[in-house]
Amino acid sequence: MIVGVLTETFPGERRVATIPATVPALTKAGLEVLIEPGAGVSAGFLDAAYTDKGARVAGDRAQVFADADVILQVRTLGANLVAGRSDLNLFKSGQTVIGFSEPLGEPQAARDLAAQGVRAFSMELIPRITRAQSMDALSSMATIAGYKAVLLAAETLPRMFPMLMTAAGTITPARVFVVGAGVAGLQAIASARRLGAKVEAYDVRPAVKEQVESLGATFVDLALDTDESEDKAGYAKAQDEAFYARQREMMTRVVAASDVVITTALIPGRPAPVLVTDEMVAGMTPGAVVVDLAAERGGNVEPSKPDETIVVHGVTVLGPTNLPATVPFHASQMYAKNISTLLLHLVDDGAIQIDLDDEITQGTLVSQDGNVVHTRVRELLV
Ligand code: NAD
Repeated sequence: MIVGVLTETFPGERRVATIPATVPALTKAGLEVLIEPGAGVSAGFLDAAYTDKGARVAGDRAQVFADADVILQVRTLGANLVAGRSDLNLFKSGQTVIGFSEPLGEPQAARDLAAQGVRAFSMELIPRITRAQSMDALSSMATIAGYKAVLLAAETLPRMFPMLMTAAGTITPARVFVVGAGVAGLQAIASARRLGAKVEAYDVRPAVKEQVESLGATFVDLALDTDESEDKAGYAKAQDEAFYARQREMMTRVVAASDVVITTALIPGRPAPVLVTDEMVAGMTPGAVVVDLAAERGGNVEPSKPDETIVVHGVTVLGPTNLPATVPFHASQMYAKNISTLLLHLVDDGAIQIDLDDEITQGTLVSQDGNVVHTRVRELLV
């Protein structure tokens, strides 16, 4: 079975789906790895590094599509709507593709791939179970986004993060407030703490209080009723507008006292809740920085705009949507581990075997034999 690795075509995307170091694990399982020329260059991996590890470099992109049985990508059609479309007729019926595909946000793209006869697996749909932890690309990428959000904030803030006592006087530490302490939020907390900031955090799931505190941050108690805020999968449940209104009211004081606010609050399959209003931003000190990691999903911060840096009321508001692509070396390393672990999970005897009784296979398989087969994606298409 030939595993093809493509150069990513989404604007600004610098990651690659497989790095040289993961090639041996694939070849050991009897798979051949075929790389599009230059696929890893923007992440720091030259073609020669892949061939050294046993991969072959194809003549061009079309050859990868022509020869591969399985295509590995960071962004397949649903997550690369414009440029990804030009690949659509290069896919062969019966070919398998694995990658991020926004299946719940762009179900039509899943239908288009299905119509082409492509069997597609979505990396967003990896179940959050212990057995699948090493395939969990959302967590890997959230880790990188949380780290990079802090660096962006530190770079933009006209103050330093650490407390310093110098001959020229005392520098007070920056105050950082992290809203949403999931994977990205916890990494943001840890990164801001390492830079010496005084960090506070809030999450609707009370279970994270201990994790926040173990990273040296203070959990802000907003006195909201959050007993029923977590679903069985460990994600936050959506709350009603009255809850969010109260949350905004309770957070206003903390936001106003912060030099940096980093928001990461998401509800799976829904737009992100608005937690920081324009008025709350206006209450911050001039020069303060807000980084809205939820900007791509509608935003936690009212004035934020996806991929724009705007200044409102003297406060800089950033809405980066693809921070993992700005750390392409390690983002690709982690993603390559995640995607190759999923692929090897699906492979038996040198070929993909579909076992629909397996929670991971069933959970991630979006299309097969010309049909969209994933229940939630199908429901969105009717
Ligand atoms: P996510 O990206 O969906 O959301 C980010 C955070 O925002 C979550 O912690 C959520 O509770 C929080 N949030 C939602 N609404 C909020 C609000 N109104 N105010 C404040 N915060 C709000 O979540 P995630 O980071 O991907 O992961 C969430 C959970 O899943 C965590 O408990 C994590 O440990 C768990 N997880 C488990 C596994 C596994 O078992 N394999 C893997 C990854 C994550």
